[in-house]
Amino acid sequence: MDFKEQLRAQVDIVRVASDYVRLRRVGNRYSGLCPFHNEKTPSFSISAEHQFFRCFGCDAKGDVFSFVMMIEGLTFWEALKKLADQHGIALPKQSLASDEETRLRAALYEMHEIAFEHFRRNLAGPNGDSVRTYVAKRGVTEASVQKFGLGLADGSGRALLRMLEQRGFKPEQLEVSGLVGKRDDGSFYDRFRNRLIFPIQNESGKTIAFGGRALDPEDKAKYLNSPETKIYKKSNVLFNLNRAKETAMKLDRIVLVEGYMDVIGAWQAGITEVVASCGTALTTEQIRAMKRHSQNLHLNFDPDAAGANAAERSIKLLLDENVRVRIVELEGGLDPDEYCKQHGGEAYHQRIAGAKTYFYWLADRARARFNMREPQGRVDAFQFLLPAIQGLNDKLERVAVANDLASYLGVAPGLVLDHFRKVAADRVERSPAPRTESSRATDRILLPLLVNDSEARAQLIDQLRDIPALRQLSTAPVFDTLLTMHDAGETISFNTLHARIPTPLQDILAAIILDAGAGGGATIEDGLACVEALRREHRETTLRELKSRIRSAEREGRLAEALSLMQQLSQSA
Ligand SMILES: [Zn+2]
Repeated sequence: MDFKEQLRAQVDIVRVASDYVRLRRVGNRYSGLCPFHNEKTPSFSISAEHQFFRCFGCDAKGDVFSFVMMIEGLTFWEALKKLADQHGIALPKQSLASDEETRLRAALYEMHEIAFEHFRRNLAGPNGDSVRTYVAKRGVTEASVQKFGLGLADGSGRALLRMLEQRGFKPEQLEVSGLVGKRDDGSFYDRFRNRLIFPIQNESGKTIAFGGRALDPEDKAKYLNSPETKIYKKSNVLFNLNRAKETAMKLDRIVLVEGYMDVIGAWQAGITEVVASCGTALTTEQIRAMKRHSQNLHLNFDPDAAGANAAERSIKLLLDENVRVRIVELEGGLDPDEYCKQHGGEAYHQRIAGAKTYFYWLADRARARFNMREPQGRVDAFQFLLPAIQGLNDKLERVAVANDLASYLGVAPGLVLDHFRKVAADRVERSPAPRTESSRATDRILLPLLVNDSEARAQLIDQLRDIPALRQLSTAPVFDTLLTMHDAGETISFNTLHARIPTPLQDILAAIILDAGAGGGATIEDGLACVEALRREHRETTLRELKSRIRSAEREGRLAEALSLMQQLSQSA
């Protein structure tokens, strides 16, 4: 058995993955929201028995090694080493012979480890006296200095460089480390000089970059961050996620603030599920990284104009990713760090607990802006909210939110309905075939009924024969097989059906049946409604096609054809 197999036998994929994904046990498998694509209902599954993961949404699949490689962005060797380290298993000597990419990245990790220790020692040593006083004055406790590994880059501009050179790192490694800069004459210097250092770690706690806050008020750049390197992609990393994720999963909540000091302030107040984007605008990758731990996000950005703009941009992205957003408001225009210092941790806890959902927060802003005593003012306020509501991807959610907000603002429900009718009409004009959503639901309702419930089968199966819309489904062959088996009088069960269909469809069928088992299942009435919807869908498609053929016949002057099509239309309508 080679080392990889040996390691695989000792590592449990469920335990490894649950560091990154909220998993729920369903029978003998585990299920959760896929960390590799955006989804609302879980299609990500892990088989504990077979030590294998699979997503039916994006088709990501593999063993524990592929999982770690994908989620951490590691090479195979790094994943192997990480898992071995984590489980206290020693790597055999020959497996250290890895590829070049891995060796370079290993050198970068090592340089960052050295830099981390170097900065920390500086802050703890005699040269760090005044900076330690400054840090304490800003309210950072000694425990936090240790916890976050704060450090000091001195003003010499060569100390770290010399250390790295002494440890034998080559110029070509130094150059891509992000830790040094290069002068025109080719000589190097320390990137971070005279700065308070905040180490930035990846999700498994390895230092991959640094943020430096200027100590000299004359310094033009207040904050300086590491550039992107082979081990640091800014858009993927959130400051403190490595420490925050445990509480985030436990409380099912995550707090997003803007800066390093805000994270430390909130942490000291006992809000440990707090992260910050490292001085960049929030990205989709960062949102997905948070979402793996909790879908409930509390946004606590600075109340100044820049913060408000950042919040607005971020919210659009967050809603696109189906994250549930609440807005934390702090009175007095304070940022989280200042607020915790002035009002104490308990008060900050209350602000977080009392945070309004994004839409109610927005509605309150509308109330403050328009004259709510006048009917027209209430309508204006509602209009003000509409673009945000329109931004929601899910139609049902859009309607539900609109209704909630209308009643919150005291607007007649009729107005909401009118608006949505108009928007729906516009959409139908623009997009002729909005089919996929209902079709997907069709599989998920009909197949479990037909497979598991003989009474439902008796009522439904004959009705399925003359529905052309069924042919549009990717699972159409499964329905065909079902009908054939039914006509031949064969016993229908999951296993007999499963055995008769091609492999890709076997996976889909298994996923649908497993999901239905977890969700409580549909009733025969649901099945009948589904059949009716398919019929309606077919009628509508036919009408739409006829109309479009009439239009093009008219446009191209084929009037006889247009006339005969119009007759067909009046017959089928
Ligand atoms: Zn997926």
